[in-house]
Amino acid sequence: MGETDENCLFCKIASGEVPSDRVAESPLAVAFRDVNPQAPMHVLVVPKRHEPDIGSLAAADPESAIALLELAQRVAESENDGSYRLVFNTGPDALQTVFHCHAHVVGGRRLTWPPG
Ligand code: 5GP
Ligand code: ZN
Repeated sequence: MGETDENCLFCKIASGEVPSDRVAESPLAVAFRDVNPQAPMHVLVVPKRHEPDIGSLAAADPESAIALLELAQRVAESENDGSYRLVFNTGPDALQTVFHCHAHVVGGRRLTWPPG
């Protein structure tokens, strides 16, 4: 359990080696503010375990995937009214840039749909 990648930015943020503006934590997941926020609430929720995306996390460690969803909900309820968008950019064409699974928890204003 708890596999990490020593070259991974979000593994380092999850362990505290790289600083972040942390807003919540659970035994299996960590939530911190995105350094480049796209909305009044823009928090990233990551599993402590290193997996590149939500699909591989769900397959390898379903408990961590559920923990990630639970922490996203908790963050949205404490930061906002519980209204939020959960985004998993997965793969280069979806503009995933950090290959450690992360959920963007976005809200705090009226959002538009569809995404660009
Ligand atoms: P992606 O494009 O992979 O879905 O999202 C990666 C997110 O990580 C981006 O929204 C970017 O702003 C954020 N990010 C990149 N580097 C850092 C960092 O060092 N600290 C924090 N808090 N966020 C970061
Ligand atoms: Zn990682």
